[in-house]
Amino acid sequence: MDRHAAAQPRRGDGRRGVRRLAGEPLGPRLGEPVHSFEPSGPHVFLSESRAALSRHPALKDFAARVTDFLDMHLPEPVTEESGRPPWLDLRRRAAEAGLTGFDLACARDAVPLVPPGLERVAQGLAMFLAGRRDCDAREIFSTGHGAMALRYGTPLVVQAVRDRVVDGGELAGVASSEPHSGSDLRGLRTVAVDHGDHLLLSGTKGLVSRVEEATGFVVFCKVVDPEQAATRHDGGVWLREVPLSALWLPTQTVGVLSETTVPLGLRGWSMGHLHFDNVRVGKDCLLGAPGDGRRIFDTHFSGWRLMMALVCLGAATAAIEETMDRARRRSVGRTSLANVPSVVARLGIAAAEVQAATAWCFSLLERMDQEGDVDVAACSAAKALATDMAYRAVDIGLQLHGSEGYTRCVPMEKRLRDIRGLRIADGPNDTLYSVLAQSLLAGSGPGVPLVTQRKP
Ligand SMILES: Cc1cc2nc3c(=O)[nH]c(=O)nc-3n(C[C@H](O)[C@H](O)[C@H](O)COP(=O)(O)OP(=O)(O)OC[C@H]3O[C@@H](n4cnc5c(N)ncnc54)[C@H](O)[C@@H]3O)c2cc1C
Repeated sequence: MDRHAAAQPRRGDGRRGVRRLAGEPLGPRLGEPVHSFEPSGPHVFLSESRAALSRHPALKDFAARVTDFLDMHLPEPVTEESGRPPWLDLRRRAAEAGLTGFDLACARDAVPLVPPGLERVAQGLAMFLAGRRDCDAREIFSTGHGAMALRYGTPLVVQAVRDRVVDGGELAGVASSEPHSGSDLRGLRTVAVDHGDHLLLSGTKGLVSRVEEATGFVVFCKVVDPEQAATRHDGGVWLREVPLSALWLPTQTVGVLSETTVPLGLRGWSMGHLHFDNVRVGKDCLLGAPGDGRRIFDTHFSGWRLMMALVCLGAATAAIEETMDRARRRSVGRTSLANVPSVVARLGIAAAEVQAATAWCFSLLERMDQEGDVDVAACSAAKALATDMAYRAVDIGLQLHGSEGYTRCVPMEKRLRDIRGLRIADGPNDTLYSVLAQSLLAGSGPGVPLVTQRKP
């Protein structure tokens, strides 16, 4: 039997999950009391996430709920050998427990789990804690990419996304990259031809995550008029000058086709191409106004990149703890691995890098929450640094686990493959470091104007 199907609490971040009788609902529900989040013990290496929690004690109950949920459903870090957890089902259960809409005011319940003004830090904490169990757990909590539809969508879109993604625990995807252009957003060639009362969407997206699971996608495209679409045939070069737009597209819309491929890591969710063959989309599916796409992208992905950074940092902290544990137990000659100076030095470097990156990510999230300050350049570079540092830490962890680390029975190899993907996804790291350098070289200050958000 797949052990995730009947997971019992065994080990968590400082406290054990609440045991329940068969037939009882799994995970804490909204309004249900939870124990305090108190990670402790010699093997727990969470100081920067704990520091964030100390600065925001109002989030302790929330963090405890997330931990309870994970202890209940993902009690151990996932290994390739242990079988794939039912990820989408876990998200549905998270929705029941009120853990899918806490990050946005317009998606929240009447009794908010997260006090207003702490939404980003809360989301970051959830991602960090999820990453400690598995990088694929990143999709369980929060509105995810559905946040773009909820922030900028018409009332019709907001209602649909709230019903499905927040209350129903379905998943929202994002379709930006195209086979010929991923990092270069101006090079996108998917067009939405404006026919007055509706748009006709054509193009191909990919590689894109969640092609099989997502209930809908935020699609980035170029809105053009029929005359332009009919007469301009220069291989799409002219489209570079057309500003980017964004729209919400339910996956079941006629003319949307998908095909999947097998990625190296992050296999908990599908990956592949989306083809749009003259897909009819109502104009009320546009997010913001035509041409708002770039600012929607930058604003959303600044936060999202920090979330992916924290997923990887969570995975890296777990890797470092497990490695320290093993180093203490493993003897080499007459001493333990933990007494070998070069081993200690490498673990120390990994721990320092991971802590520094974690502190940077939480500090940027706090600025977003408190000042509404979206520093696109810093968020970009923080994601690059965090995923690079996390990858290095897990690689050291794998090395210090010896041949055991190279098998599917321990989580190191999966973490390494998963984090490798996140060094490309959501902007390749090379590009993201350049964004910071270009901003510094230009002497520009932080803060990109936010797109006006529609009132819920
Ligand atoms: C696991 C995973 C999940 C993904 N999920 C999604 C998704 O859900 N939705 C979506 O839209 N896309 C998704 N992507 C696609 C991702 O956004 C793109 O792969 C990424 O933006 C890079 O684009 P590309 O693959 O076309 O690479 P290219 O643009 O061809 O770049 C290739 C490499 O060239 C280098 N490079 C490119 N430009 C520069 C530059 N300006 N400066 C320095 N170096 C540069 C980088 O090393 C880069 O990795 C995903 C990718 C991965 C790996």
